[in-house]
Amino acid sequence: MADAPNSPQGTATPPKTETKPKGRVIYKMRVAEIRDYTPRIRELFLKCEEPTSFQFRAGQFVMLHVPAEPKPLLRAYSIATSEQQTDGYRLIFNYVDNGAASKFVWDLKGGELLDFTGPFGRLFFQEPPTEQIIFLNTGSGVSQHFCYLESNIRKFPDLRYRLLFGVRTEQDIYYREELERLKKDLKDFEYEFVLSRPSADWKGKKGYVQNFISDYGYLQKPTTFYLCGNGGMIKDVKHKLEAEGFDKTKIFAEAFD
Ligand SMILES: Cc1cc2nc3c(=O)[nH]c(=O)nc-3n(C[C@H](O)[C@H](O)[C@H](O)COP(=O)(O)OP(=O)(O)OC[C@H]3O[C@@H](n4cnc5c(N)ncnc54)[C@H](O)[C@@H]3O)c2cc1C
Repeated sequence: MADAPNSPQGTATPPKTETKPKGRVIYKMRVAEIRDYTPRIRELFLKCEEPTSFQFRAGQFVMLHVPAEPKPLLRAYSIATSEQQTDGYRLIFNYVDNGAASKFVWDLKGGELLDFTGPFGRLFFQEPPTEQIIFLNTGSGVSQHFCYLESNIRKFPDLRYRLLFGVRTEQDIYYREELERLKKDLKDFEYEFVLSRPSADWKGKKGYVQNFISDYGYLQKPTTFYLCGNGGMIKDVKHKLEAEGFDKTKIFAEAFD
């Protein structure tokens, strides 16, 4: 699990010349663009306004301050952008019925100024990396994995990356364009959608991401697993891997629910 929201920042120690600001910095971020991929998946493109830059490490999350009385409600969102980008980031939101942050985010029209704190979390990409990296995600969990992949394009372009993305139906598929772009930039990256409730026409993988991991030969090749999204999926994958004798120190997970 991730650090508690008010845990210390997981960023590298700042250079000695930098003075650390007192108290927590509130980042004012402008909603520069809104993309609705499906009725329940929305991505916000956020630009730094004050302070004018934001630094983080791949795998970290920020806390959105949802306006409320007597004080804002804080909700965690994993950054979906490369850690090399410092003028803003993208966040992917999965709509939760009756959710306070979900309602707030789906009411946005663009141009608003939002409050964030962070970065938080210590689930960094493990270095030195293993030969094979397997990402398993559901819902909006692709955000963290996309961030690792985009951040690794220059640093580790030659690893064997595999990603399984679990959604319910064909209508819930999103981020294909972004994943295709990664395929062009990385030497050995493959991804597939796994649908739990596909139509009769679906020719791809059906069921749950955990049903397909045995295709990857992780007991023969040095492999690291990154799991993100639904807690049930994470539990099932860990259980399966541990039962097979896979080294559990090579499994890294972040549950969103
Ligand atoms: C480290 C971390 C990173 C996260 N990153 C992301 C991210 O990138 N994108 C994203 O969409 N979410 C992410 N989440 C989840 C996010 O923080 C919120 O919990 C989620 O958006 C729901 O907030 P809400 O205010 O809309 O709902 P709430 O008002 O908190 O909850 C409303 C109801 O929905 C239930 N509920 C709460 N959360 C979930 C959930 N995730 N799934 C199903 N039911 C739920 C609650 O039990 C409650 O009954 C992350 C969570 C963590 C811990």
